Amino acid sequence: VLFEIKDLQKKFGSLTVFDGLNETICKGDVVVIIGPSGGGKSTFIRCLNLLEQPTAGKIYFEGEDITAKGFDVNRHRQKVGMVFQQFNLFNNLTVLENITISLTKVKKQSEEESKEKALKLLKRVGLEDKANAYPSQLSGGQKQRIAIAGVLAMRPQCIVLDEATAMLDPIGRSEVISTIERLNRDEGITVVLITHHMNEAEHADRVIVMNEGRVAMDGAPREVFAQVEKLKSIGLTVPDTVELLYELRGAGCDLPLTAITVDECADAIARCFGKSAKEDN
Ligand code: ADP
Ligand code: MG
Repeated sequence: VLFEIKDLQKKFGSLTVFDGLNETICKGDVVVIIGPSGGGKSTFIRCLNLLEQPTAGKIYFEGEDITAKGFDVNRHRQKVGMVFQQFNLFNNLTVLENITISLTKVKKQSEEESKEKALKLLKRVGLEDKANAYPSQLSGGQKQRIAIAGVLAMRPQCIVLDEATAMLDPIGRSEVISTIERLNRDEGITVVLITHHMNEAEHADRVIVMNEGRVAMDGAPREVFAQVEKLKSIGLTVPDTVELLYELRGAGCDLPLTAITVDECADAIARCFGKSAKEDN
């Protein structure tokens, strides 16, 4: 277990965003949080690295109460890195300098050592050839991967992404998601990711649906997305694959709703039509 969240409450003045929220986030998982706007997703994940201070309840990180008085917030923020919708890069610095700056300033490492490390970090996000470029010369997806490299410089155990793909085109989105999935798979970094793009949840270990400050659904992607009507009733969509299967079922096809990836969906449809073709003969 990485995070244990107990009876968490966050109020902004008279507005209660959530109260009595309980969650567990396991080490090495990819957890995707979806839900209608204003439901408290951002507030919740900002509490995880204490960008927001909860108004009641506890958050344990590896068993340690991070809401306790005197807790070292800065050290914790290095362990739990945040990536935002905006790229948060210095446009007047090169890609390499954008990363070395956090190593020299935050990690207090020498210029030379930082440079060497920064190049390795760029390699981990597949952008070592962009070291001397300026952010303005990069695509959105590349900028966001530089931001991720900057977060990796802190050697985080967990990366939290708040709609980090919202400003990107489809190619940029898939670049960022596959980078994140690779970091999770190869390095065991825990990922908590908020998105409005349902297909970004297809490889997640868990999908949490947050609505009006409550966890409305929580489970494996195929468990959650198979509940098409429930998701629609709270104003959400499902991945296009599931939507297609849902429509075909409505038209009388015998199809499961649990084929989420394009490959699974195509297989399910081929099997269905293959079978009915045989039956026709
Ligand atoms: P989501 O990310 O799911 O869209 P948020 O966590 O951003 O939801 O917001 C939840 C609620 O908290 C909203 O009603 C929002 O207006 C309110 N809220 C968020 N941040 C603040 C803040 N700093 N001050 C006051 N209200 C806030
Ligand atoms: Mg938000």
